[in-house]
Amino acid sequence: MKTYATSCSRRALLKRLGSVGALAVAGTASAPALGAAQAPPASVPTRPARGSRRQIEQAVMAAPLIDTHEHLIEESDRLQGAAHPRVVCDDWALLFSHYLNSDLLTSGMPTEAMQRFLSADVDPLEKWALLKPWWQAVKNTGYARAVRIAIRELYGVDELTDATVGRVQEGYEKLRRPGFYRRVLNDLANIESCQVNCLTGEAFKESAMPTLLMQDISIVGMFAGPNFRQYAPKAGIEVRSLADWHRVIRWWFDHYAQYAVAVKSQNAYSRDIDYERVAAEQAEPVFNKVLQGEPVSLEERKRLEDHLFWEAVDQATTHHLPVKLHTGFYAGQNSMPLERLARNPGSATDLCRRSPDTRFVFMHIGYPYYEEMIAVAKQWTNAHVDMCWSWIINPIAAKDFLKKFVVTAPANKVLPFGADYIPVEPVLGHAVMARRGVAQALSELVAEGWLSLSDALELVDPILHGNARRLFDLEAKTRTLAKAPWARG
Ligand SMILES: [Zn+2]
Repeated sequence: MKTYATSCSRRALLKRLGSVGALAVAGTASAPALGAAQAPPASVPTRPARGSRRQIEQAVMAAPLIDTHEHLIEESDRLQGAAHPRVVCDDWALLFSHYLNSDLLTSGMPTEAMQRFLSADVDPLEKWALLKPWWQAVKNTGYARAVRIAIRELYGVDELTDATVGRVQEGYEKLRRPGFYRRVLNDLANIESCQVNCLTGEAFKESAMPTLLMQDISIVGMFAGPNFRQYAPKAGIEVRSLADWHRVIRWWFDHYAQYAVAVKSQNAYSRDIDYERVAAEQAEPVFNKVLQGEPVSLEERKRLEDHLFWEAVDQATTHHLPVKLHTGFYAGQNSMPLERLARNPGSATDLCRRSPDTRFVFMHIGYPYYEEMIAVAKQWTNAHVDMCWSWIINPIAAKDFLKKFVVTAPANKVLPFGADYIPVEPVLGHAVMARRGVAQALSELVAEGWLSLSDALELVDPILHGNARRLFDLEAKTRTLAKAPWARG
């Protein structure tokens, strides 16, 4: 198949993108033929112009990408190796430790084998034997595709085999040096900035690379639990009443809202996002019980969480911060109650109605309920949908979601990408898949007669970076973050 690398005349672009650009579009050169059932209007060409596809691919490859959701730890933490709790092992198996481990476990890999595979105490070269029996079953999933692209682009290895595992480990060690975050994110993936939901315990991370690893304020512990230990000491407030806790919540916004890009909650991992407005007087008795360590019923817990959710969300809205909520699919394995996820889009519409001034970002396209999420974004001005994580959960669903979104809901309300990883290496693989998917979605819309070529080209910059820059006010945030007291340049 003729690829972008062999056919593109824009050498400067190719030079900057390296082989990633070529790889990203390999395979996009054959949009599906039109079936009779998909016949386009008579006024449009029935065959996609090969040149159109190429123009769209070139534009998508060249555009900087804004990454709206990551869990990246600090580079300095990563360089500590397995001494850091979020670095399970400091070898090539680390790339498999976030998400792909779940496909391996659901394929049947025994837990003990997985523990050895991700152990810091097992020789990296012996790890392939643990993976090999399960590799064929998982190697074509999106989780694996992102890792395989990363291994190919970062270490120059096309296939994992007995013969290549040594080169993969060598490549891992050679790349993992000071400066490798910028190398992977900026130089290779052409990512302009990331938005990190820190998982190392801080409600807001003072990143040493604040303009690259921009941060969300984590609000989940403000209302679920609540997590006194995580939020109160830094605020220097002794919590004896609900009013004290309100002051703690306000302290975080007063100190960090100007530096944060958004707030984030993954509370949908334990309940639906059906937060009702509950008055403080109704929540206070429950709060006092929790404070005393007394048991509370499920109904009481919901009442308190609902009240505090809005306390945090109203603060976010006052400080012009969008509210990112996990919806849809669960990370991990053998735990997801699908019927709860199915309620997320309906509850999302209630949130939009209850707070018209809050800009909600519903994450992960609510997979698998993405058709419903398009309906939410079409109906509600304050609803946005983030495709973060979706290209590796189900790359074809993600591409179809984007195609349908563009012809259904306003195009300024979709965010195309967040790799959602703790290790940085597979971010590159995921970014390649996202670019490929965006190019494919737009090319197919042109080929099927729903968009003209110029309509499609006009959408490239808004989708890849324009929407995120505007929604999160990234120009102003970048200026503020560059001057943050903890910025080290
Ligand atoms: Zn996430």
